[in-house]
Amino acid sequence: MTIWKSPHPDLDIPTNVTTYQHFFEDNRSLSGAYENAITKERLSFREVKQKAELLSTIFVRKYGLQPGQTVSLFSGNSVWYPVGVWATIRAGGRINGASPVYTIDETVHALRTADTKIILTLPSSLPTVSAAARQVGIPPSNILLLEGTSPEVQSMQSLIADADTKKISIVPTYRIPAGKSNKEICGYLNFSSGTTGLPKAVMLSHHNIIAQCYQLRQLQVLAAAHPPSSTHPHGLPTYRILAVMPLFHITGLVRFVSYPVFMSGLSVMLPSFTLPSMLEAIVQYRIEELILVPPILIRIVQDKAVEPYLSDLRRTVKRWSSGSAPIAPEIIRALQQKFPDTGFRQGYGATESTACISAHPPSHFDYKYAHTGGKLVANTVAKVVALAPPNTDLGLVTSTVDEVLLGPGEVGEICAKGPQIAMGYLGNERATAETFDANGYLHTGDVGYIDEEGLIVISDRIKEMIKVKGQQVAPAELEDLLLGRPEVEDVAVIGISDVYSGEVPKAFVVLKDRSLNKEDMQRTGRSLMEFVKSKTVRYKRIQEIEFVESVPKSATGKLLRRILKSWERGE
Ligand code: AMP
Repeated sequence: MTIWKSPHPDLDIPTNVTTYQHFFEDNRSLSGAYENAITKERLSFREVKQKAELLSTIFVRKYGLQPGQTVSLFSGNSVWYPVGVWATIRAGGRINGASPVYTIDETVHALRTADTKIILTLPSSLPTVSAAARQVGIPPSNILLLEGTSPEVQSMQSLIADADTKKISIVPTYRIPAGKSNKEICGYLNFSSGTTGLPKAVMLSHHNIIAQCYQLRQLQVLAAAHPPSSTHPHGLPTYRILAVMPLFHITGLVRFVSYPVFMSGLSVMLPSFTLPSMLEAIVQYRIEELILVPPILIRIVQDKAVEPYLSDLRRTVKRWSSGSAPIAPEIIRALQQKFPDTGFRQGYGATESTACISAHPPSHFDYKYAHTGGKLVANTVAKVVALAPPNTDLGLVTSTVDEVLLGPGEVGEICAKGPQIAMGYLGNERATAETFDANGYLHTGDVGYIDEEGLIVISDRIKEMIKVKGQQVAPAELEDLLLGRPEVEDVAVIGISDVYSGEVPKAFVVLKDRSLNKEDMQRTGRSLMEFVKSKTVRYKRIQEIEFVESVPKSATGKLLRRILKSWERGE
């Protein structure tokens, strides 16, 4: 029976403070800032603190926000996004980030799942968000614009400015109630479909976020033995990060919103991704470590637009970092060839583990370890559990053969326990019990092994989740949509490999009318794809449909997706 332990010294992580208190009030220098890479709009952390004090007061006095209630943020990357986050946290609320390009149905699901009271959004998302809010009974007065103005709703920034002018008295910062620990207080709700079903709101505690920041800082301190250059002619802070990935994803929430305050660093926001704007920002802000997803790394090695920046990038970038999805060995090789003097690391984890379960320690910032997810971060233990055969419908926690624990190099489900493991899913005890076992381990639904040296290698996924360009797609959501169509008798959706996106959704459809000819079938396939397109955000779109006589199911009627995956592999 092997239990792996982190190779790093244990950390003492505070249990009696909120993230806001710890990052903004506990003698922090607050010398850093959030800055928009394009417009250069900048909010220093001191300004963010002052605005968070005013906005949290507005939330409490004007909107009646109580501790434990949710504020949802539908926004792209903006320097104002963290103001919404920290104001909510300061008031004791739960902040819930979500995609600003969701459709109305997706937004409705998000608002219901997170049990939202107040919404912050952008003018471009306002029509969708307003329609969704109407459906779930959130009054228009509880919608605020994070940026810009509209005749219909209040502007967050003018409310803050007005409160500032009036010198309103500030409500006290929310504190962890006496007798409780910050492990018990949820401050963050991030969406994940987890191992099965529709997107759920993962409850992250204040302790989760603080712990992950401590775990990341320990690696940074270790890296000081091989430091990136730390003095810069433009007076840039030592810790600088470019927020390319969305702030509403767990990596964004940790790396671009929270950790920079903890490190007194500079978080440079890219409001919308284009390759040239990212490359310009890397060079301009001298970003030494990039946290990216595989599709962007693919563009860096393949896109001609990179050529004019090549020598600048070679001079600037010390290390590439990839996470959120598997990266192909060819891309790793091509990256090393193009940037021979850089290091490489991966972070492996999930929303349910507040991002990293493992990461490469500085001793392993080397391309020869690039195929691995690195080693367990501090205070974290892991077990690898034997898998049940693919033709069984056992749930994931019980899919393990009586919890047979595997040894080095043996392939099974990766399970992890540590201070960053989430509290569970909001209002969904069943999914919580299926994912977090009685011993406190998160069953990741990822398949892989841990080698003799303690390096984690991820090789497959037994959970349903599809990862398109690092973003989650829940097959159950697409299946529900297709099952609602009159032509469809049954359906199963899985992810199939795609060179650029990693995976894309494919549907196996059983039609009610079995007598259709090939042309009619093709027409039906196109109309089903169009229908899904009209109901979902872009990356969830079905890319392929195959018509089948039946979809494989167990005796109890559960879809056996792993069998479909093996069909797809030609097995
Ligand atoms: P999310 O909750 O969106 O971060 O998705 C978590 C899932 O993304 C994990 O359970 C894995 O399936 C996948 N994932 C995250 N990081 C990696 C990685 N470094 N290598 C392979 N898959 C990863």
